[in-house]
Amino acid sequence: MDKREMTDKLLAMQEQLAQMSQEVESLSREWDELLVNSHNLEMENHYLRERINAYSSAYQDGQDSANHNATQASHDLGLSKARQNLMHIYEDGFHICNISYGQRRENDEQCMFCLDILYGNKEGDK
Ligand SMILES: [Zn+2]
Repeated sequence: MDKREMTDKLLAMQEQLAQMSQEVESLSREWDELLVNSHNLEMENHYLRERINAYSSAYQDGQDSANHNATQASHDLGLSKARQNLMHIYEDGFHICNISYGQRRENDEQCMFCLDILYGNKEGDK
C-alpha cells in the first residue's frame, strides 16, 4: 500500500465514521421518541381502560334497572347513554371489546366484537 492509497483509505474511513456517528445520533433520537410514545400510549391505554370499566358498569347498572322496571322503552328509543359513550370511543378509533379493548383500531377497521357490544343485544330484546 503506497502513501496515496493509504491517504485515500484514511479519508474514506473518516467519512464512514462521520456517517456512522450521524446514524447513531439519529437512532438515539428516534429511540427517545419511541420511549416517549410508548409511555404516552401506556397512559392512554390505562386511561381508556378506566373509562371503559366505568362505562361498562354504568351500562350494566342501566340494564339491571331496566330489567327491574320490566320496561324496554329505553332500548326501543335507540342506544342507551352508556352505549353512546362506548360508541364515541369506538368512533374515536379504539376497541371497546374484551378481546382488544383500549387498543387502536388499525386503519379504522371494523371489529365484529366491538359491533356486537354496540348492537349485539338489540335484536334479542323483543
Ligand atoms: Zn374490538
